[in-house]
Amino acid sequence: MKNRNEPWETVREALERLYREVDGEAGQLSALHAGRLQCRRGCCSCCEDGLTVFEVEAENIRFHYRKLLTEGFPHPPGACAFLDPEGACRVYAHRPYVCRTQGLPLRWIEESPDGEAVEMRAICPLNEEGDPVETLPPEACWSIGPAEAALVKLQGEISGGELRRVPLRALFRWR
Ligand code: SF4
Ligand code: SF4
Repeated sequence: MKNRNEPWETVREALERLYREVDGEAGQLSALHAGRLQCRRGCCSCCEDGLTVFEVEAENIRFHYRKLLTEGFPHPPGACAFLDPEGACRVYAHRPYVCRTQGLPLRWIEESPDGEAVEMRAICPLNEEGDPVETLPPEACWSIGPAEAALVKLQGEISGGELRRVPLRALFRWR
């Protein structure tokens, strides 16, 4: 990485802390919605090809999976490069943030054409059965925003503010 401002180990530890916090909150929401969530090992239609992450998350995967990335092969195009033949994630313990909340009811704020803040909701189609996500209280949804802001801050600490994103597939030496 270029223009690194903070020691990598410090940033990596902060990233792992953020992952633990996300997992804690996501775990509570998963328990709350256990009756509707179909997420399980091998269910992988959400593991799309072309996902990108900030360099800080890419570097964490390089740190933990050097052998896989230099000697292994990516999943064929059409799904995430890190899926194995059984549809399981080969970097699960250190998967990116975005993979840790997938499947939960999501909420985020967008600006309408007339400048109004509009709350949006979404959920994986496989998890739709149950109360419509639009009717859930905000605290029953994963709020997109705070964790993304924390990631931007960590990325800034290693790159001098440059917010370059890396395709997951590009992490493999052999593509
Ligand atoms: S990194 Fe793992 S969990 Fe995330 S999209 Fe790829 S296979 Fe799925
Ligand atoms: S988010 Fe959807 S596709 Fe992904 S694991 Fe959960 S149920 Fe399966």
